[in-house]
Amino acid sequence: METGRCFSCKREFTFDPAEAPTVLVDPETGRPPGLTGLGTLRPATPEAVARSSDQPVCPDCLDRAKRLQPWLNL
Ligand SMILES: [Zn+2]
Repeated sequence: METGRCFSCKREFTFDPAEAPTVLVDPETGRPPGLTGLGTLRPATPEAVARSSDQPVCPDCLDRAKRLQPWLNL
């Protein structure tokens, strides 16, 4: 198990790296590539995807994201 900080709520939580849900986050925007600051989608550029990395998401936020943001494709 590892301890990490939830990308969404910044809460620390422990997770299993092999099983933890993650979202792809672009470090330049702090959001998933393709998602704008308005919460709308645009085509993700290959550059944005290439520099993005997977960030862990805690179970609470995952539940919320699944309900509210189906585009996350979790
Ligand atoms: Zn969270």
